[in-house]
Amino acid sequence: MSILIEDVSKRFGSFQAVDSVNLHIHSGKLVALLGPSGSGKSTLLRLIAGLETPDTGRIRISGKDMTYENVQSRGIGFVFQHYALFKHMTVRENVAFGLQIRKASRFYVRERVEELLDLVQLRGLGDRYPSQLSGGQRQRVALARTLAVNPQVLLLDEPFGALDAKVRKELRASLRHLHEKVNVTTVFVTHDQEEAMELADEIAVFNKGQVEQVGTPEDIYDHPATPFVMSFFGPVN
Ligand code: ADP
Ligand code: MG
Repeated sequence: MSILIEDVSKRFGSFQAVDSVNLHIHSGKLVALLGPSGSGKSTLLRLIAGLETPDTGRIRISGKDMTYENVQSRGIGFVFQHYALFKHMTVRENVAFGLQIRKASRFYVRERVEELLDLVQLRGLGDRYPSQLSGGQRQRVALARTLAVNPQVLLLDEPFGALDAKVRKELRASLRHLHEKVNVTTVFVTHDQEEAMELADEIAVFNKGQVEQVGTPEDIYDHPATPFVMSFFGPVN
């Protein structure tokens, strides 16, 4: 599903969090929203999800105007930095939860959960509780749980932000692998340029609520459009 963001703005009080953003996220791509803290990345993600309503502009998903549609009708899966798993449920029960509340058959749930655990490389850990997992494993359970209900669009807000560098690197590989298999349109918020460069098909660089540049990692690295973009990618010798 493609996502088309047309001239979207959002202010909180007198603070312009998102300022006339235009962005076309193509179907099946993994796109990173990259920028410093406070630049409006999470707000844009929440606007796409329908957790916020824009002051101006339009959001189209797969061509359909979704600007004022509720969260449930958008077919979107969301993973946050601190994604709370149900502590009293096993990994398998956590992943199954969304399917069960949708009244999927027991047979389907069983098959689908095993498929998802394979996909996030957690086969064999289905009977564990969240407290028996590492932080990286928990985020992979969160991903599996979100993917269980086949979202049209996957939104990730700094999902690996709270983890240490080594685990983050593993999770990047894991997300890339996952994306190649599932190919759901994915929008990924990060303030880590390395993460964006390594993961994304395209990067949108945010600064003060505006998109400064959109392009492939190579485009942006080789041809930064503004001094801000250049500085964000560090000094080039
Ligand atoms: P980022 O994800 O790039 O760090 P955010 O989109 O979270 O940036 O936020 C941009 C700014 O908008 C924040 O610094 C904050 O001051 C403001 N903001 C975000 N959400 C709210 C809100 N619900 N109420 C008031 N201000 C908010
Ligand atoms: Mg944020």
